[in-house]
Amino acid sequence: MKSAAVEYIAARSVDEVLAALADGETSVLAGGQSLVPVVTQPGAPPCRLVDINRVSGLDTLAESGGHLRVGPLVRHRVFESGTVGGPLGDLLRLVVGHIGHPPIRARGTMLGSLAYAHPAAEWPAVAVTVGARLVLQGPEGRRTVPAVDFFTAPFTTARRPDELLVEAHLPTLPDGTGIGYAEDRRSSIYPQAAAMAAITVTGGVVSAAAVCLVNSGPHPVRAVAAENALLGTTLSDPAIAAAAGIAAEQDTRRLDDDASRPGHRRAYQVLARRALRHARQGAGRCG
Ligand SMILES: Cc1cc2nc3c(=O)[nH]c(=O)nc-3n(C[C@H](O)[C@H](O)[C@H](O)COP(=O)(O)OP(=O)(O)OC[C@H]3O[C@@H](n4cnc5c(N)ncnc54)[C@H](O)[C@@H]3O)c2cc1C
Repeated sequence: MKSAAVEYIAARSVDEVLAALADGETSVLAGGQSLVPVVTQPGAPPCRLVDINRVSGLDTLAESGGHLRVGPLVRHRVFESGTVGGPLGDLLRLVVGHIGHPPIRARGTMLGSLAYAHPAAEWPAVAVTVGARLVLQGPEGRRTVPAVDFFTAPFTTARRPDELLVEAHLPTLPDGTGIGYAEDRRSSIYPQAAAMAAITVTGGVVSAAAVCLVNSGPHPVRAVAAENALLGTTLSDPAIAAAAGIAAEQDTRRLDDDASRPGHRRAYQVLARRALRHARQGAGRCG
């Protein structure tokens, strides 16, 4: 079976991108690493793509006002180096190594991954963990959506079909924040389960905590009860074990087989504990 006809538009400006998106049926082509395999599948319906790769000014990567601003043409691989400093840079560098392989990281973009919203993908989890804000531009101008409200269901976001995701604003995370990530990935391009943590220690005790479960439900989710349990503790082994147990209770994945639920909970407990232990190594350090 042949693949369907693809109408291709090479935009030169954001206005041209928005004009193409106005029909509500056109897809943005960024790195193409998720989109191209879908639209070229045998039997795929005809589609219309607007390529943003020739639009200048979409590769912003800049820090200002306590945020890292990331544009739609910033590729995954940019985060492999020490371009971004501090605890946020540590988290981005740790996570990017888990995404695909070098050719994928050379083409794929962070914002493409956020817009695609795979429930097991790494960048949506980072956005939720650090409390990112996502900037969308449409016919009526710009609006900003917190990451926690952006991901609404698997492969579904708050983005309207006529909007371009133009920037992600990631808080740079205070000194004294340690970061951690642990995943269970078996012969699949995405992890089966993962946990991410960003823990700030001030004066020897936890002053801020973010714990995020990945692929435990329709989108990444903060384990708020576990975060609250960590506040004020010294991040001791018992405090981490208790928080990991609480986090695992938040595994909301719908399972056809109820018998496998305890196994999933156990997996998240182990992953949350590993992520928190990893975070402890950097927590409390300054500068
Ligand atoms: C073999 C393989 C392994 C992979 N492994 C992993 C992995 O381990 N972890 C992981 O997280 N990902 C993985 N990916 C996916 C990869 O990270 C993609 O690069 C990413 O999901 C999408 O980024 P992109 O720039 O390629 O987007 P595209 O494929 O161009 O677009 C993806 C979707 O987002 C939309 N879109 C893109 N940019 C914008 C924008 N600025 N505004 C609005 N809509 C937009 C597109 O219309 C499309 O619907 C893998 C992919 C492959 C092929």
